[in-house]
Amino acid sequence: MSALPSLAPPPATPPLRWRNRVAALGRDFHTRLPAQALPEPHWVARSEPLAAELGWPADWAERPDWRALEVLAGGAPWPGAEPLATVYSGHQFGVWAGQLGDGRALLLGEVDTPAGPMELQLKGSGLTPYSRMGDGRAVLRSSIREFLASEAMHALGIPTTRALAVVGSTLPVRRETVETAATVLRVAPSFLRFGHFEHFAHHGQPAALRRLLDFVVDAFYPEVREAANPAAALLEAVARRTARLLADWQAVGFCHGVMNTDNMSILGLTIDYGPYGFLDGFDPRHVCNHSDHQGRYAYARQPGIGLWNLHALAQAMLPLIAGDDDVTEATGELALAALEPYKAVYEDGLAEQLRAKLGLAGIEPDDVALADDWLRLLASERTDFTIAWRRLADFRADEPAPVRDLFIDRAAFDAWAARYAARLARESSVDAERAARMKRVNPKFVLRNHLAEQAIRAAEGGDFGETARLLKVLQRPYDEQPEHAAYADFPPDWAQRLEVSCSS
Ligand code: AMP
Ligand code: MG
Repeated sequence: MSALPSLAPPPATPPLRWRNRVAALGRDFHTRLPAQALPEPHWVARSEPLAAELGWPADWAERPDWRALEVLAGGAPWPGAEPLATVYSGHQFGVWAGQLGDGRALLLGEVDTPAGPMELQLKGSGLTPYSRMGDGRAVLRSSIREFLASEAMHALGIPTTRALAVVGSTLPVRRETVETAATVLRVAPSFLRFGHFEHFAHHGQPAALRRLLDFVVDAFYPEVREAANPAAALLEAVARRTARLLADWQAVGFCHGVMNTDNMSILGLTIDYGPYGFLDGFDPRHVCNHSDHQGRYAYARQPGIGLWNLHALAQAMLPLIAGDDDVTEATGELALAALEPYKAVYEDGLAEQLRAKLGLAGIEPDDVALADDWLRLLASERTDFTIAWRRLADFRADEPAPVRDLFIDRAAFDAWAARYAARLARESSVDAERAARMKRVNPKFVLRNHLAEQAIRAAEGGDFGETARLLKVLQRPYDEQPEHAAYADFPPDWAQRLEVSCSS
């Protein structure tokens, strides 16, 4: 008997099956509560590539059985999810800030995806027990900034939490002016921060601290379980990931803006996009956060701050490293030893990236000096960081014009270019091949402040087209995209007057 072609409709997408391992850690970690509904919700932006990575159907946002718009606006629970806000503490601007926590975000739970289990977190979802003086909301402006940056960083190849969608509302929210509320649905394997460890250490809850350690090790760092001291090994693994992340940031000219320990991911992801910025003109002292009066989080200081934050994490982990014993000087030495590799991992990581950005195939002892002097050259004229690197890809010893034209002091450029040309000649570098290689590591498109601002202004006027266009461009940052050349241009004069602060 021949098999009849099946006339049955394709199977319906099964509803999401939720888990929540953070909930299972116990009541010390969180408070369960639902989101608070936003009025008149509407779609602002979605990252469909991310939805596809999660294995969701293409029509996820419109499916009647998912009610995604309502769910993201907090107007309906996601069937099967048990949302909760987690508690953490942290150091803010170098000072112990005490208890913080998810003041305006809810962990909806974890779902299985082709890339493994992912947590979904709804930011801007209303008051929680950790809201302190805040209103539990996020404004449209900062939600679009977080959404675009998350997806842009991912496309650049930099570890980051992701953003699936932004939903807007008519709810007025007071900041410096009255704005409107929005939510962002964020996605990451975990939203745990250094501050979660600090919380249980500072509040004298060793059993909870131990449960947190066990969870993080089992779920995310199983390779450290067999180490002589798993807690110290975890600290070292986090230090290594953080060092690599910082090398990524510096190489692309990304400034986080608020590197408080509560904004440091235990997985080494970029997390909590607030007053971040991508460098326009290169200035190592650039401070992107207008509220950062001391310049604590200036671009050039970020790698050092990463280590400072790891020291705070190490401090919190001392009881874990000591295990059943008392914390002694030897415990401290183990912790310091775990942080030891940070500097070298960072420096090696950055050196490797700079060599790739210079298009060098081999390694010579003077490569670091060559890269440093190029950066010094950029700094001396505040040359546009992204454009300079990208134009350098087309550098030819016999035709240096496009990149050379960026500099006022042509003699200074020529002196450096002669060394660069000699270096390239020594490894018989082929211009076209090198250019192709360099364009895979020197992005043409980054999320400059003024680009985000243009998308935000349009969105505040009800036009979300620019946000969608910009997202598409940023999803292919290394591609030429000649039709979008304007997005790769120098920032306009008004960009210099843009101020981004902690207000979000
Ligand atoms: P951030 O600087 O955005 O990482 O936030 C620091 C802390 O303040 C975290 O505990 C946030 O949850 C909380 N927070 C920030 N803005 C608000 C807000 N509008 N409402 C409630 N909590 C907030
Ligand atoms: Mg934060």
